[in-house]
Amino acid sequence: MTHSCLTCRPGPDSVIDYDTQIIQLPQRFRGPPASGNGGIATGLIACLGEKLLGEPIQRISSRLIRAVPLASPMTFTSQITEPNTVSISIGDSDGPAFTGWASKDSSTPIMSNETVALLASNAVLTKEKLDRFENHVEQLNPSSADFAGCFVCGPKAEFGLRLRPRPVTDEISWLSWDPGERWTDDNRLALLPAIASLDCTAAIGFHREGHLTQDESALLGSFDATIIEKPPTRPAGNLRIVARTRSRDRRKIFTDIGLFSPTGQPYVLGLATWIVVTPEKARGK
Ligand SMILES: [Zn+2]
Ligand SMILES: [Zn+2]
Repeated sequence: MTHSCLTCRPGPDSVIDYDTQIIQLPQRFRGPPASGNGGIATGLIACLGEKLLGEPIQRISSRLIRAVPLASPMTFTSQITEPNTVSISIGDSDGPAFTGWASKDSSTPIMSNETVALLASNAVLTKEKLDRFENHVEQLNPSSADFAGCFVCGPKAEFGLRLRPRPVTDEISWLSWDPGERWTDDNRLALLPAIASLDCTAAIGFHREGHLTQDESALLGSFDATIIEKPPTRPAGNLRIVARTRSRDRRKIFTDIGLFSPTGQPYVLGLATWIVVTPEKARGK
């Protein structure tokens, strides 16, 4: 099995140097203004997991412990905990920044069949949903300016994915996505962007939906994903991102999201827990 996505080989998008075991996120992989993107961090768990296990992985889990350093060297430790699972910790002299594990074993589902079916049923839009998508006008929120350069969702991120899902029902956000050729790994969409694409795309609706007030913002706390199949790079009809905010419980918000084929076949499913913070804290202050 080869694993050679952009972040795992030399170049401007390089993050992991497997010889020196140094991990360093270039500025372009920011989330908040001065720290790394949580989806990229989660994707790196997948990259390292696939490389360390030497086989395709089907489950990953990540936990963000503190702001992920940008343009500053980190290193990683890993341990094969079961034949199919590797646990990984990434950090620097200040301690771990994020930890997680990757596994070939996907026997424990991360979301109910009903949730998968609900997301999948929205991969293809009815005329009514498409109208709602096309007529949606985005409102600014307290984090709009701070996250304008976010690698995943930032409209001003020059090298970013610029993914801005819009509501198609009161609870579902949706986007059609052509990742282009940049992220191809072994004729498939590389794991890192496939996973990162399911990060803040699930959080874009928090203010609009009323899960956050104008005095609040949110940061990724943890992310679990099932990789059913690496998506084709550029399927006819594009990939479909379908997200739902499930609930808020005090300082936590739970989201379900998936990357689907244009007919609703799931490729990657993600379940995130977000931590409610002040806009200043989200900014990194
Ligand atoms: Zn990689
Ligand atoms: Zn973002």
